[in-house]
Amino acid sequence: WQYVGFATLPNQVHRKNGEERCLGCIFLSVGESGLGKSTLINSLFLTDLYKDRKVPNAQERIDQTVNTIKHTISIEEKGIKVRLTVIDTPGFGDAVNNTESWNPIEDYIDQQFEQYFRDESGLNRSNIQDNRVHCCLYFISPLGHGLRPLDVACMKALHNKVNIVPVVAKADSLTQAEVHRKKMKIREEIEQFGINIYQFPECDSDEDEDFKKQDQILKDSTPFAVIGSNVQVESKGRKFRGRVYPWGVVEVENSAHSDFLLLRNMLVRTHMQDLKDVTGETHYENYRAQCIQNMTR
Ligand code: GDP
Ligand code: MG
Repeated sequence: WQYVGFATLPNQVHRKNGEERCLGCIFLSVGESGLGKSTLINSLFLTDLYKDRKVPNAQERIDQTVNTIKHTISIEEKGIKVRLTVIDTPGFGDAVNNTESWNPIEDYIDQQFEQYFRDESGLNRSNIQDNRVHCCLYFISPLGHGLRPLDVACMKALHNKVNIVPVVAKADSLTQAEVHRKKMKIREEIEQFGINIYQFPECDSDEDEDFKKQDQILKDSTPFAVIGSNVQVESKGRKFRGRVYPWGVVEVENSAHSDFLLLRNMLVRTHMQDLKDVTGETHYENYRAQCIQNMTR
């Protein structure tokens, strides 16, 4: 039936017996202002979701995001309808004092938990709308030597509440060797500072080889190096989403140029259900336990 086939890889959908789940997912973009968050989200989800469809009204310029904006779209992946909600945040770093500039984001995540908790304790439990944030795309600057203190503080403030998927923004400003080094450095720092990013589920020993290979690629590619663009480029008779430079053209969806496709596949195809499972079973459960503890105190 429906959920089968959505997965291109074997252990994609962990569906609890007899329980139907709506395939929908809520993503949040977080990071310094100007790192290309709005552009990437646009590239990932909001337009040109199908290869054969042209980018509608490709807009070259994205205005600076001043308020948190919630976009909801329905996409179809392999014949299965998926509802995606993308929350684009203004980003931080513009203020003189950036301490705790992630507070509004933390509050937003908490509010969704709170609402869910209230609904769950209410009478109409069968019809709860799940507005919990399932994934936070955390944007890291390509210019620094790894993580900045602000990144560390922010990720640590959020890591017990949401699945953090780190990305290196504007990867077109780095050479291949630089991307490689930066990824290693950032992975080391994530470990060193005790930041809990989203962990890809462990492969069972009976998983097939393709799955294991894909899983290793994902682990090795973290943090994903991404490039965004809202411009359709035409070159050598082909049209694609890209960035034009005096010396050449960067293709957003070319795996040799960035991890864009890898990231999108992971988010909407192979790991969406796991992101939701971890949100419900770990992050929300933490919140719930805390609430109950506070009530009985
Ligand atoms: P936000 O503040 O994080 O939402 O960033 P925006 O999406 O508004 O982008 C800020 C600027 O960076 C714009 O001028 C974009 O055209 C540019 N930009 C966005 N993505 C990329 C990218 O992948 N590479 C490069 N070089 N520039 C980008
Ligand atoms: Mg923005």
